[in-house]
Amino acid sequence: MSYDLVVIGTGPGGYVCAIRAAQLGLKVAVVEKRKTHGGTCLNVGCIPSKALLHASEMFEEASHTFPSLGITVGKPKLDLKQMLVHKQETIDANVNGVAFLLKKNKIDPFHGTASIPAAGKVVVTAEDGKTQELETKNIVIATGSESAALPGVTTDEKTVVTSTGALELTSVPKELLVVGAGVIGLEIGSVWARLGAKVTVVEYLDRILPGMDDEIAKQFQRILQKQGFTFHLGSKVTKVDVAKKGGATVTVEPAAGGEAKTLNADIVLVAIGRRPNTDGLGLDKAGVATERGRVVIDDHFKTNVDGIYAIGDVVRGPMLAHKAEDEGVAVAEILAGKHGHVNYDAIPGIVYTAPEVAAIGKTEEELKAAGIAYKVGKFPFTANGRARAMRHTDGFVKFLADATTDRVLGCHIIGPHAGDLIAEVTVLMEFGGSAEDLARTCHAHPTLAEAVKEAALAVDKRPIHM
Ligand code: FAD
Repeated sequence: MSYDLVVIGTGPGGYVCAIRAAQLGLKVAVVEKRKTHGGTCLNVGCIPSKALLHASEMFEEASHTFPSLGITVGKPKLDLKQMLVHKQETIDANVNGVAFLLKKNKIDPFHGTASIPAAGKVVVTAEDGKTQELETKNIVIATGSESAALPGVTTDEKTVVTSTGALELTSVPKELLVVGAGVIGLEIGSVWARLGAKVTVVEYLDRILPGMDDEIAKQFQRILQKQGFTFHLGSKVTKVDVAKKGGATVTVEPAAGGEAKTLNADIVLVAIGRRPNTDGLGLDKAGVATERGRVVIDDHFKTNVDGIYAIGDVVRGPMLAHKAEDEGVAVAEILAGKHGHVNYDAIPGIVYTAPEVAAIGKTEEELKAAGIAYKVGKFPFTANGRARAMRHTDGFVKFLADATTDRVLGCHIIGPHAGDLIAEVTVLMEFGGSAEDLARTCHAHPTLAEAVKEAALAVDKRPIHM
């Protein structure tokens, strides 16, 4: 069988790439080794975690916010089995949606593990060992990533789990120990904390959310502590002993070395990051270069081998679904003779906890390190009428704008619906806008978005409501 394009992997990068290429008239096939399409994101990542985050947040609201709103429902009772059904139904609706879209766009789906014997060829090995060879003008590798392992610690997905196992627990752990204070660890930790687990987080660095704005991370840590989280920062897990009767003893040492202590947990979640997934692709045979596991690409997503491209988690840049999607669109457009492009300076990153944390562009620390003069504008949700009406006033909006030109260089939000609020700043930055542009844009009242406008006004020291 002969194609213009074979895409390996149908995560957000791969399936979006395939659809855009088909829209542009290319003959496209996809190869996926999972039973369902949608990749990490739809099957075991973004979607199931958000289904559980939403459900557990509703549980928390019913327990703690409803009474203050004048709603009495009694003590809410957890039906974890139904919550997991909700999660699975959400996954099913999304993965079936992708299968439908592939069909609608006349894309041929192949199920099996793909390997690349040479440019122009993809071999698909099905579960029963049968192979099929596809001929193609171009290949896009979109094989994503997997949970990174903690040296010396074996995950059994029962007591010591990755994010995948942590989204499938059938009972609420009494004590959950999370290794790693990044986005995934804190999101999944929040789910189980809201449902009753005592959550302890061990982090190697002396801060949470590495890479995010320091001031935001500090405030977020305080909020999580109020929610019952315990943090051991500047600490490393050196050993996990799983007991026969269940549970584990975790040995923790200061990151810089020193006396070890032990912590007990029913479940240990290893969330120390993700590693690019190129297993079984046979990149050596095809001569495709990798660097620290990631497929090396140029500015147009091309590897060192003509006709072979790569996108998403398997290449450089933030491991985010929307980054993978945008790269999928861009490479499809390039292959169709257009000028696909991704603006890496305007990719938002969200932590879907309560409150949410959202960021785009540079942090204050990055601007200081680069010697760029900047102005700061901040506005707290305590001064926003809508946030008060919702009783969700934790957090603030922070703008960073160029001191001379007023161009927005970054925006960081911790607060209710921060993930949605950041969208207008993303558009603003995409168009090279200034804080003044946003400050002079009419915002509906009463909305949380008014806090974003007020923070933009605060860059010029003229917020109205503060
Ligand atoms: P993937 O989604 O990993 O898809 C790759 C696909 O390739 C997989 O289906 C795999 O089976 C297939 N594959 C691999 N090798 C082969 C082969 N040889 N042959 C055939 N098929 C193959 N990102 C966000 O932006 N927002 C979030 O809220 C978010 N939440 C997350 C929560 C969790 C718990 C996790 C784990 C991740 C989360 N992410 C989130 C990250 C997001 O899932 C990834 O960035 C995204 O899935 C990357 O897309 P991708 O297409 O590059 O790869």
